[in-house]
Amino acid sequence: MEAPQRTRTAIEKIRVSSGSAITLGLIKGFLNAKPTTTYLLTYLKGKCNANCTFCPQARTNNSNTNRLSRVTWPIFDANRVFSSLADSVQRGNTLRVCIQALNYPNVLHDLLTITEEIKSNGITVPISVSCQPLNNDEMKTLKEVGVDRLGIPLDAATKNIFDRVKGNLAGGPYIWKKHHEALLNAVKVFGKGKTSTHLIVGLGETEEEMTREIQWCVVNNINPALFALTPIPKTALEYWTQPEISHYRRVQLARYLIVKGQTKFDKIVFRKNGCITSFGVSQEVLSRIIESGTPFRTTGCPNCNRPYYNEKPSGPIYNFPIQPSHDEIKEIRSQIQNVV
Ligand code: SF4
Repeated sequence: MEAPQRTRTAIEKIRVSSGSAITLGLIKGFLNAKPTTTYLLTYLKGKCNANCTFCPQARTNNSNTNRLSRVTWPIFDANRVFSSLADSVQRGNTLRVCIQALNYPNVLHDLLTITEEIKSNGITVPISVSCQPLNNDEMKTLKEVGVDRLGIPLDAATKNIFDRVKGNLAGGPYIWKKHHEALLNAVKVFGKGKTSTHLIVGLGETEEEMTREIQWCVVNNINPALFALTPIPKTALEYWTQPEISHYRRVQLARYLIVKGQTKFDKIVFRKNGCITSFGVSQEVLSRIIESGTPFRTTGCPNCNRPYYNEKPSGPIYNFPIQPSHDEIKEIRSQIQNVV
């Protein structure tokens, strides 16, 4: 990766998630739920240098580069996006901007330029960046130009799965230990609670393995955001299935309780097959928390709701972008089986 630069070339093109593009008025369309964060993606002619098996942008996947997960990301003139973004922030429609980055040599330059462009348009909005592990100087530069939070996606819950889906066994550049070190360094640079990671449920991990990794994140002041595996045509995982909804619900509950300090990995009881049988809280507490619907909302940076990133609006809804209804909570309750 290049050293931080002070003189930068303007960004000409940028990708915007289709939901964000509708919110910004760049395209017309109907939204079941509006994204409260505007999601941008660095534009690259060609593919990402990394090779994550689940990702349509991966170097050796033959999938459509318009996509990330099940969402399409059309390309726009960058200046048009920045001026629409200014309006959207002013109207209160955009509460955060998330810049997602592919892995390529000039990525730091592009992240700095995009952040500066947003700021120079007089837009006062918190900015998250989600990217590959950076070194400390690079992270500091991002913070200096105004990035509020940094995300480094682990995606996998264990080293074996990580190696298989984005590390050496996948022909990718990433190393489990280095991702963890970068996350710990990001906490030092950005401050406690200002670093996130993404964890994908459904890559073959058990609930016990996922819960252990969530606990590691929380102990180290890293916010774990949950995703459900979404198999995309022409990726290496196209024939995989999405996680069982009951499995996902139990992981959501465990994450919520650990993040809120109401339980710990050591207090949770698992079956031999790694499924949760007890969350280590009383039945009353569990029932009240399920009734609130909060554990089943999208997790991540403040105001990041990623509508339908992992699911069709017709369901099943893994991450609720808005408060689940009474009927939906009733259904969620029936999905969380055999736990106390
Ligand atoms: S949690 Fe949301 S806003 Fe934060 S980095 Fe991930 S996608 Fe972006």
